[in-house]
Amino acid sequence: MPDFAALRERMVVEQIAGRGLIDARLLDAFREVPREFFVAPDFAVEAYDDKPLPIEAGQTISQPYIVAFMIDAARVRPGQRVLEVGAGSGYAAALLGRIADEVVAIERHPELARLARERMERLGYRNVRIVEGDGTLGFAEAAPYGAILAAAAGRHVPEALLDQLAEGGILVMPLGSPGGAQRLVRVRRRGGRFEREEMDAVRFVPLIGEQGWPEERE
Ligand code: SAM
Repeated sequence: MPDFAALRERMVVEQIAGRGLIDARLLDAFREVPREFFVAPDFAVEAYDDKPLPIEAGQTISQPYIVAFMIDAARVRPGQRVLEVGAGSGYAAALLGRIADEVVAIERHPELARLARERMERLGYRNVRIVEGDGTLGFAEAAPYGAILAAAAGRHVPEALLDQLAEGGILVMPLGSPGGAQRLVRVRRRGGRFEREEMDAVRFVPLIGEQGWPEERE
């Protein structure tokens, strides 16, 4: 059995802090959440490698660094309610829940939503709510959100997500075609305006839904 605690600490030091993300709350969240719980047992030995890994339903758990980059870019902090679109394994939602007060994470695949929910229960992460549904429509009943992160690449920023962003809130998501060029964008709500900024090139699975790509693009 690998020494997961030691591997986790090395991941924090080398992959996250070592690349310039040094916010103490962010690093502590990565120290607390056991990534090996969020992958199938066969992949547990690779849980702290610097890469995405396959999960159920043909999806992926994102590379730790990219999750850290997005949380940092969205300026997630205590006191906030945060929405994650694309809960997948639940790993990023669990990290967000270590920093923010409350997290709602939506997943379109019922099997993934069920597994993520079970993981939150097992780990006792009571401030993370996993919802099954189309996250391109957001989750209006808990809006507004201080931060919104999407873990799948859309065609455009869904209008519903902009509507559900709190004043001063930040949305971070990848945009671009499935398998093609994709880029992270950051949108800040300021007064009646949305300020948009392009960030790094990335590669994500497609955001499938009413305000995303059609199902056959998955
Ligand atoms: N954050 C996840 C984690 O920590 O494991 C990784 C998510 S994976 C890269 C992207 C997820 O987005 C997939 O599980 C996929 O099913 C989901 N997804 C795609 N379109 C969606 C939509 N419209 N609503 C909710 N989830 C969606």
